[in-house]
Order: sequence, then C-alpha cells, then structure tokens
Amino acid sequence: MITYKGKSAAGGIAVGRVYVYRKEKQQVKRILVDDINGELQRFREAKTEAAGQLEQLYDTALEMLGMDGAAIFEVHRMLLEDEDFTEAVEGLITGQSINVEYAVSAAADNICTTFAAMEDDYMRCRGADIKDVAERVLAILGGNQAKKFTLTEPSIVVAEELSPSETVRLERDNVLAFVTAGGCVTSHMAILARTMGIPALVGTKVRLSDIDGGSMGAVDGRAGVFYVNPGEELLADMGRKLSEEKNKKALLLSLKGKENRTLDGKKIELYANIGNVRDVSMAIENDAGGIGLFRSEFLYMGRKDCPGEEEQFQVYKAAVEAMDGKQVIIRTVDLGSDKQTECLKLRQEENPALGCRGIRVSLENPQLFHTQLRALLRAATFGKLSILYPMITSLDEIRRIRGIVSQIRQELDKEGIPYGNADQGIMIETPAAVMISRELAEAVDFFSIGTNDLTQYTLALDRQNPRLDAYYDPRHPAILRMIQMTVDNAHRAGIWAGVCGELAADTELTGLLLKMGVDELSVSPGSVLAVRQKIREIDAGNL
Ligand code: PEP
Ligand code: MG
Repeated sequence: MITYKGKSAAGGIAVGRVYVYRKEKQQVKRILVDDINGELQRFREAKTEAAGQLEQLYDTALEMLGMDGAAIFEVHRMLLEDEDFTEAVEGLITGQSINVEYAVSAAADNICTTFAAMEDDYMRCRGADIKDVAERVLAILGGNQAKKFTLTEPSIVVAEELSPSETVRLERDNVLAFVTAGGCVTSHMAILARTMGIPALVGTKVRLSDIDGGSMGAVDGRAGVFYVNPGEELLADMGRKLSEEKNKKALLLSLKGKENRTLDGKKIELYANIGNVRDVSMAIENDAGGIGLFRSEFLYMGRKDCPGEEEQFQVYKAAVEAMDGKQVIIRTVDLGSDKQTECLKLRQEENPALGCRGIRVSLENPQLFHTQLRALLRAATFGKLSILYPMITSLDEIRRIRGIVSQIRQELDKEGIPYGNADQGIMIETPAAVMISRELAEAVDFFSIGTNDLTQYTLALDRQNPRLDAYYDPRHPAILRMIQMTVDNAHRAGIWAGVCGELAADTELTGLLLKMGVDELSVSPGSVLAVRQKIREIDAGNL
C-alpha cells in the first residue's frame, strides 16, 4: 500500500479504481516568421474563438453547477482579454518576429512565474488559470479539439494538476474523487470539486509513475489522505465510512417536506442564500422555506454595463415566481470592498472594506439605486418580495432610503406602472447598527444579521486576509452578545430578526441561536437540510 498525504480541497470518502490522467504536453516550437501581421491576425482570431468557447463553458457550468462554478469561466474570459496578456503576446510577435504559438506560451509562462512568486496564497494559485487559458488558445491555433475524458467506470482521477476546463469536461457521474500532485485549496479546480460535491485532495505530491491505472484506491477527503492498493482491513474501514456517509445523505434527503420544529415545538424559518436567479432551483431542491438573501450585486459583476431596469425586473420577477408565494428577500447591491465591477467606476481606496461599499455606493449613485428600486418594487407585484439594505450604520440612511422609495412609488403611480408593497429590512452587520438597533427597529420591517461582516468589523480584521484566519471567530462572545441585543431590540419593536451570515449554518450554535429567539436562519442551499436536522434534534426547553 502507498499512502499520500495532501490538503483537503473537498471532503467525503471515495473507494474505487484509480484512473491516472497524463496530460499530453503541447510542444511549442519557436519559429521565425516573415508575415507578422498574419501572426497577429491568427492571435486575434484564436482569442475570439477562445472567448466563444468560454462563453459556452460558462453556460454549461451555470446549468450544471450554478453561479459559483460558472464564475470561474468568466474569470478565464477576463484573463484572456487582459490587456497585459495581449500586449505581451503582441510585443513578442512584433519584437522578435516569432510565431504566435511561442509568443502565447512564453507570455503565459512569464505571468505564471510572477504569480508563483507572490506572497498571497490566492494569487499564487492563479497561475493554473493562466495556463488553462493559454492551453485553450494553443489548442485552437493547433486545430486540436479538447478531448473528453473517457472514464469507463467510476474512478478516482489522479493527475499532476487539473485545470478547471479539464475538471468540467469530466463525466461527473463517473468521478469518485480527484487527487492531484500539485494545486491549491483555493484553485478553481478545488472550488469546482466542492460545488460538484466530489471529494478532492491537492498537494499530495503523488508520483504518477508509481501508480498503475486500474489499481484500487481510497480517498479520505476530510483527513486529506489517498491510499493506493489499501489492505483489506483499511478497505473495509473506508467502505464502512462511505456507507455511513451515504446513510447520512439519505437521512438528510428524507427531511425534505418536514418542518423546522424543535422537539418541544418551537418553529423557526429556514431560508437559502443565493447569488443568482438560477440558484433558486438549488434552494427549491433543498426545500428552503424562502430566499433569505439574494446577493443582487452578482448581477452587476463581470460586465461592462450595469443591468438596466427591465433586465433586473425580469430577474427579480423570475425569482419571486419560481418561489411560488414563498418569501424572497433581495438585497440591494453590496458593491465595493471585495465585490468590484467594471460597470461602475468605483474609486481605488486605501481600505476598501472601510470605504465606499454597500448602501453608501447606492446612495452616492442615485441613478443606480433608483433603477434597482424601481425594478424591485415592480417585481414585488408577482409575489412576496422584500427589500434588504446592506451595511447600514445610521438612522439617517434609513430616512434617505425611505424618501427615495416613496418618491419612486409616486413616480410609478404617475406612470400608471403597477408595483408591490415590499417589506423593507436592513442588514445588521456593523457594530454601529447593533448599538442603535433599538431605534433602527422602529424604522424598518425586519433585521437580517450579517455575521460575516459583523465579525470583520467587530474584531477589526479583514475577512479577505488569509493570514488572519486564526483570528476570524464568528463565535466570539462579542458577536454572540450583539446577536442577542439585536434580536431583543427587534422583538421589542415587534419585528423579526434573522441571521444570514455563515454562522447561521454552524450547527453547533443552532441551539443557542434558537434560545436567543432568532426567528429565521438563511444558509447556503446545500446546508438547509443539515440545519433542519439539527433543529429537529433540539429540545429548546432543556438548553
Ligand atoms: C454578511 O456579511 O454576513 C453577509 C451575509 O453579507 P456578505 O457575506 O455578502 O457580505
Ligand atoms: Mg456583508
């Protein structure tokens, strides 16, 4: 038996035959050319075709995996169209009179080397994406079609590295697990594996030459271990773990249609967080009672022009109609900080998390806010739509928002355009909002506590900085007391309070949140049934 230890990129157990994937190395020769304009033209044409392929991949991934999976191919399109990359390739062709293939390969290698030297883990891992984009362009230039993996039986796929394109090209039903020698936990292949629910290990330093394809293998995704030719005892142990996992999944599925009620009869709403209208199907599939947080900013990202009123209206209407009478809480754009968009020229800031983000962006860009509010109010006639405002820190912001909303209502009245009576709530995600939650509760219809940002701002740490992971503690007593204070102030004013940050899915805290009187939890669609299971095991009277 050979044992490899790597990093867990996606949990889960797999037992089965090993498929060793050896990438065909594309040999790129340096050739001197006379027709420089011809080479530049070939580059432009290959880029256009690559962009078309990436658009198709985006659509496929969106259908198969939702927004998280698809976004990766949007990133690849941006890398393909990146000015630095284009200039580097064109510069090499014209400066050295060389063929486009060599120029693409050399430019990509240079960018990869720059990324590899970066301190930031996330940036270091972006080299794999550049390579993937360059390989796509080279395949087009060489007239090669991307080959489909042919897995004849369910297999553990072992490779040096896997690009996102290779990962989605796999027949998902036949992949038991991914194991790569290199790669990073934050790589896009790892994100895809998590989205597909397939166990994955990276950085195992596995040597492909040591493994015979077709050998038996076992993967413990959580522990980060890959066994080749495991002994009988280990195989039996892994088999047991696998069937426990399957039973757990089956148990969760059996909870569909059941109530979110504790043993002593206390009920709580359990909703889903989504980033796109297509994710609504995942919320329905997991039996969410509503949408607790629709992060509308994703509609604005990865594009050059902001979505107009009609486009937004259609998206919100589709979400509300698909949820068929269940509540859909749509948050107005929370742009700025880590969520940037080309369609709105936001200024570069020294401390973006403390800069112009969330409601500040909307209030500083009246046209943007106006367009979104009109679309939301119009869509509210088609179901139970509520509007949620992000990053609130003062009562004055609520007054300004209310003024704008009533002005829009008058405008729509005058134009004879129907609109609905949407409830309006606020995110409680700054310590300031918690401290004035008593007054805020009198001015709005509900609270949704964003523990991700509340942790960032209360503990004074940048949630994007991986070096601070050890300090990022949403269970900190300061956060828990803030939740209690917010819930108490909401109830005093007769409104409800939910939690929509990641903490809502922390099943070790479900009992505590119920005890605090939280009325609603909103979690990622994949966590709905696990949280329901926890709720149903709780005896709130005995907490
Ligand atoms: C939060 O801050 O907890 C939240 C839900 O909002 P986001 O993660 O989108 O900032
Ligand atoms: Mg937030």
